[in-house]
Amino acid sequence: MTLLTLRPTTRLSPVELLHSGKVRDVYADGDDLILVASDRISVYDVVLPTPIPDKGAVLTRLSLWWFEQLADIVPNHVISATDVPAQFAGRAIRCRRLEMLPVECIARGYLAGLGLAEYNSRGEVSGVPLPAGLVEGSRLPEPVFTPTTKAPVGEHDEFVTLDEVRGQIGKDLADELRELTLRVYSRGAALAAERGIVVADTKLEFGRTPDGTVVLADEVLTPDSSRFWPLDQWEPGRTQFSFDKQLVRDWSLASGWDKTAPGPEVPDDVVALTRARYVEVYERLTGTSW
Ligand code: ATP
Ligand code: MG
Repeated sequence: MTLLTLRPTTRLSPVELLHSGKVRDVYADGDDLILVASDRISVYDVVLPTPIPDKGAVLTRLSLWWFEQLADIVPNHVISATDVPAQFAGRAIRCRRLEMLPVECIARGYLAGLGLAEYNSRGEVSGVPLPAGLVEGSRLPEPVFTPTTKAPVGEHDEFVTLDEVRGQIGKDLADELRELTLRVYSRGAALAAERGIVVADTKLEFGRTPDGTVVLADEVLTPDSSRFWPLDQWEPGRTQFSFDKQLVRDWSLASGWDKTAPGPEVPDDVVALTRARYVEVYERLTGTSW
C-alpha cells in the first residue's frame, strides 16, 4: 500500500467524529478514516487532565515508521500522513476504512501484565501452555500468539484460544492472523533489540478490504500498544521499567490517588520527563532525531 499519496490538503467535506477513545479520535472523511492521536495520557484506564506535549505526534510518526518497516510482511491501511485536516497535522493518519476483524491479535515474547496474571492462575495463556517456573518479566521459549476478544467499551477483553478464533472467523483467516502477528512481532522485536529495547508484547489489529485482503490497521508497535523495556535494565522477577507511562503511574500512586476518575493534575517536571521518554523511544527505535 502506498504510504504518501499527495492530494490537495484543503477539502470541502467536513470530517465527522465517529469515535473518541481514551487517547485517539476517529473521524470519517468520505470513504476514508482519519485517526487522530491526542496528547492525552491514561493511567489505570483514567485519562488525566494534563496532556503530554508531542505524545500524539510521537505515536503517529512511530506507527508510520513501523508500517513502512513491515510493508513486505503485510499491507497496511495508510493512505496519507499529510492529507489530513490542518488542525490535526502531524498527529493524524488518513487511512482506508476496513472491515475490522473482531480479534485483538497479541504476540508475547516476555511475560507481563494480563499475560502474567493468566499464566499465574492457569499455567497457559490463550490455551498456549507455557513452562513452569516463569516469573514476571521472563522471556518465553518462543513468541506466542495470545489473542483476546475485542470487548465493547466498559467490558474487559478475554483470552481466547486459536481454536476459538478459528470457530469465529474460519480456520484459514485465523491461521493467517496468527502467522502475521508472530511475523510482525518477530521483526519488530529483532529491530528493537538492536537498539537496546525489549518488545515484551504487542497488540495488533487487522481488517479486510472488500476483496478479502488482510491489512494491518490501527496503530503498530507504539508505547500505547506494546510494552517496551530498556534492555540494559531487564531483570526477570520484578516489575520492569517501561518506556512509556511508568513515571506517571509511579507519581500518581505516590500522590495518594485512588485510581478513580478524575485523575490528578500532573506536575510540570513529571510531564517533561514523560515527554522525554516518548521522544527517546521514538529516537532509539527509528534511529532519527525528533
Ligand atoms: P481505547 O484506546 O480508549 O481503549 P478504542 O481502542 O476503542 O479505545 P481507539 O484505539 O482510539 O479507541 O480507536 C480506534 C478505533 O478505530 C478502534 O476501534 C480500531 O479498531 C478502529 N480502526 C483502526 N483502524 C481502522 C481502519 N483502518 N478501519 C476501520 N477501523 C479502524
Ligand atoms: Mg485502541
